[in-house]
Amino acid sequence: MIVTTKQLFEVAYGKFAVGAYNINNMEQTLGLFRGNIDSQAPFIIQISKGARSYADKRMLEAMIKAADEIFPEAIFAVHLDHGDLPTALDCIESGFYSSVMIDASSQPLEENIRITRQVVEAAHARGISVEAELGQLGGVEEHVQVEEKNAHLTDPDEAAIFVKESGCDSLAVAIGTSHGAYKFTGAQGLRLDVAAEIQKRLPGFPLVMHGSSSVPQEEVARINAAGGDLKGAKGVDEDEFAKAVPLGVTKVNIDTDGRLVWTRVHREFFRDHPEKFDLRDPGKVFIAEYAKFIAHKNLKLQSAGTLEMVRKHVA
Ligand SMILES: [Zn+2]
Repeated sequence: MIVTTKQLFEVAYGKFAVGAYNINNMEQTLGLFRGNIDSQAPFIIQISKGARSYADKRMLEAMIKAADEIFPEAIFAVHLDHGDLPTALDCIESGFYSSVMIDASSQPLEENIRITRQVVEAAHARGISVEAELGQLGGVEEHVQVEEKNAHLTDPDEAAIFVKESGCDSLAVAIGTSHGAYKFTGAQGLRLDVAAEIQKRLPGFPLVMHGSSSVPQEEVARINAAGGDLKGAKGVDEDEFAKAVPLGVTKVNIDTDGRLVWTRVHREFFRDHPEKFDLRDPGKVFIAEYAKFIAHKNLKLQSAGTLEMVRKHVA
């Protein structure tokens, strides 16, 4: 059942974070739904601009509608990840999305407010909520690349002004995470003190953490042992999610770790079965492994086991 992102946030705030997972193909979609049913968690499906052009937006929407029929128990929202203005407006117009993200975080504050405000007005007219971003995460996200030296944390005072003036419904904050597989080059970690300061100024307002993969070292080691060449990287400690939840972090975006699962499964499969060429063979392994991965993340986000509570709320 597709619900609004707002409904999920109402139940989740302060209690758990909703996992937001990107999809690009059928195997990922099947694994995602299975993992969330297995762990009895609500979730957010994210579609990026890159995914919309890779798989065609109509294909992604059709897959989501089909998965909704195959897994009638599932409760989820559909969200545009890192939208620019035309993409956000297109998604609002389509009527399919529960929420959109407008990412104008590379712009100066006033311009970020102006662009976000424009999306908020179009979205609210159709009952869709808007995630905006303030501050800059380092790393690579689709077309956006931010050098580590230009990355900066969200300023709590600016956050309060931004939310009031833009009218956005949730805010992606930069609190020490970064996009992509090469995270935390220094001794950086999650800045929960910054989240606490933001929450003080915006009580009850949902915050979003991007770039929240943990890049497990054993996963990287397995990929490299099967012919990969991923350099040393370190992500967010999964056990920190539980500390971020009471500070208002209500949505956590995890993408890189899922890509690592895909890479590990396929590299190991073809290393161990050089004679095989049926794409369904590694596909089956991947769907099962991805489901396990999603269930594990939901446990860390504390969204596992909340499905019936959410169902009562959205009924
Ligand atoms: Zn992001």
